[in-house]
Parts: sequence; structure tokens; C-alpha cells
Amino acid sequence: MFPFHYLKAADEQAALRAAAAGARYIAGGTTLVDLMRESVERPDSLVDINALPYRWIDVQPEMIRVGSLVRMSDLAAHPVVRHQVPVISQALELSASPQLRNMASIGGNLLQRPRCLYFRDVSAACNRRAPGTGCSAIDGRNRTHAILGTSRHCSATHPSDLAVALIALDAVVVSRGAAGQRRFALAELFRQPGDSPHCEHNLDPGELIVGIEVPLGPEARRSGYLKVRDRQSYQFALASAAVALDIVAGTIRSARVAVGGVATVPWRLPAVERELRGRPIDAGLFRRAAELSVAGAQPLRENGFKVELLQRTVEKQLATVAALP
Ligand SMILES: Cc1cc2nc3c(=O)[nH]c(=O)nc-3n(C[C@H](O)[C@H](O)[C@H](O)COP(=O)(O)OP(=O)(O)OC[C@H]3O[C@@H](n4cnc5c(N)ncnc54)[C@H](O)[C@@H]3O)c2cc1C
Ligand code: SF4
Repeated sequence: MFPFHYLKAADEQAALRAAAAGARYIAGGTTLVDLMRESVERPDSLVDINALPYRWIDVQPEMIRVGSLVRMSDLAAHPVVRHQVPVISQALELSASPQLRNMASIGGNLLQRPRCLYFRDVSAACNRRAPGTGCSAIDGRNRTHAILGTSRHCSATHPSDLAVALIALDAVVVSRGAAGQRRFALAELFRQPGDSPHCEHNLDPGELIVGIEVPLGPEARRSGYLKVRDRQSYQFALASAAVALDIVAGTIRSARVAVGGVATVPWRLPAVERELRGRPIDAGLFRRAAELSVAGAQPLRENGFKVELLQRTVEKQLATVAALP
């Protein structure tokens, strides 16, 4: 490991000041320290934000507010989240391992870096790690890579399961930076790679995620997360689907569907949602809607199987959530 400065911020202002001077935030460290050990990331200084008071889970009649330093395990186990927004608990419990979930924070989860093997190999060309060097995955090992939202400069998937569930529910990010506090849709946090894959999000330099807000719409209670992967535990998604449905008298009043493991950012499926809205529950409907999930897909040499896998994942999860009591 290379030498670096370490500072523990006592409050928000101290954290923002340190970041303005170039320090990187560290919360659970389960992404950042890993990458530093491999020299993929080489920050000169870290500012530890764990003393900041962002640990609330605040349940209100129309939303749940979650501080960015809440641990993944605590949010997953919260009784109101489990009962009223099961898709969040399920996405978290299907992530990483119990030990990692005890360490890892919600803010860090949203900002985790890609799992592409070339990104983590400092001897390989990778536009995300070293802009302008090329993309080793385009003609290399790309079985786990994205089929949606890709560019010729990068096709790494966004690794967070939680983000997929939150995007489906229209979650909002609360952040604080030099210009004060702002609130924006979580969907606006993430950037597709385009021709600048190293720019992964739309936070300003030094901007701190304070928390997220999750609306408690009628769909949230009838929701769930399906994750398909090579191993049943401790593995990132090959395809996943977060589904939330509001069903009245056998008819779908509204639907929210987002997918992961197949796209460069957590991927909402508005065409699938439109197809479902106002229609009676029916297996044929789920199949037709799921077919729309792959519109615009651009598979690479090794990941063509994801086109069918994604449709099956969405179809299965629509049926599962529709059948919930
Ligand atoms: C073996 C392994 C398996 C995993 N499997 C999964 C999986 O299946 N699904 C899944 O979703 N995840 C998985 N993960 C990723 C894991 O969930 C993340 O490492 C974790 O959530 C990151 O949180 P952290 O608090 O440790 O972040 P850190 O490592 O502390 O930080 C990550 C990044 O976020 C920034 N950051 C942190 N907090 C803030 C904040 N409040 N404001 C602004 N920036 C901030 C840091 O500067 C850093 O760039 C896995 C990780 C490992 C190591
Ligand atoms: S897919 Fe993206 S992360 Fe992977 S090598 Fe290409 S540029 Fe790097």
C-alpha cells in the first residue's frame, strides 16, 4: 500500500473543507480500501465521515428518509422497510455478504466502482481507470458486461443492487456541497459512459451524500427483487429486476420496473411500465411486457445470453410480485 493522509472529520463542515482540499470521503471502506490495495485508486488523503450524524432511518407517512451512513444490514433489517418496501430489504440481503453489509454504508453503495476485471487490473487498458487508454473488454472477456446503455468506450455494469430498487421507487438524493444543500432524483446521479466513462456520477467535486428519500407510494408494499447470478451468494447480478405493482381488483393500476446486471447504470423500464398500466393481470401480458425490456440492447461477443435472461428475469418477477397476497 502507498502512503496517504488520513483525517477523521468531527462534523460536516470539517468533512466538506477536507474534500475541498482534495481528500476523498471514506465510509465503510469496503470499496475504496480494496481499490487502494490494488493501486486502482491512489488518493493522497482520505477523510473519514463516520462521525457525521447521518445514521437516521426516519419513517414518515409518505416517505422513508435514510441517512447515507446507515449500514446496509441495518436498513435491510428495519421492520418498516421490510414490511412496507420489501424490494429494498431484498435487494440489500442479496448483496455482498453479512460481514460486508455490516460495514458498508448506503452512500458508499450507490457510489461503488465497477467490477470489470480490467478496471481492477492496472496493467490493462481501461477508459474508466485511465481515460483515453481504450477498453480491454470490447474484444476481451465481456460475459458479465452490459447490453444496455453501453458505448464503444465502456460497457461495465453498475454493480449496486440497492440502486436498482431505489430507481424503481423514484428515490431522491439529498446532498451537501459548496453551494449548500440540494435534492435531486437518484436517476440523475448516475451517468452512462458515453465518451467519458471515467465520469460516473453527477456530484460536484467534494459534494457529500447526506441521505436518500424513498416515497411510500401504493406500489411499494407489493414489491420485490429478483437477482440471477452464477452462484447463489456473494456474487454480483447477471440480471436482476426490481418490480413494484399497484393492483386493484385484478387490474394493474401502476407499475414500476427497473433492472440491474445488464446496464451501465441502474436501468428503469418505462415502456414495460406503460404496457402493464391499466391491464388485467395475465401471464401473456407479463411475457409481452418483458419483451420490451431489451429494446436497444447491444450485446457483446460473450454476453448475448443476457438478452433472453433479462426478459425471463423480468417476466418471472412480474408474475411473482403480482401473486403476492
Ligand atoms: C466481495 C464483495 C462483494 C460485493 N457484492 C455486492 C453485491 O452483490 N451487490 C452490491 O450492491 N454491492 C456489492 N458489493 C459492494 C458493496 O456493497 C460496497 O463495497 C459498499 O456498499 C460500499 O460502501 P462503503 O461504505 O464501504 O463505501 P466506501 O468504500 O467507503 O466508499 C465508496 C465510494 O463512495 C464514496 N462515498 C462514500 N460515502 C459517501 C458519501 N456519503 N458521500 C459522497 N461520497 C461517498 C467514497 O469516496 C468512495 O468513492 C460487494 C463488495 C465486495 C467487496
Ligand atoms: S468495460 Fe469499462 S471498466 Fe471495463 S475495461 Fe472497458 S472501459 Fe474499463
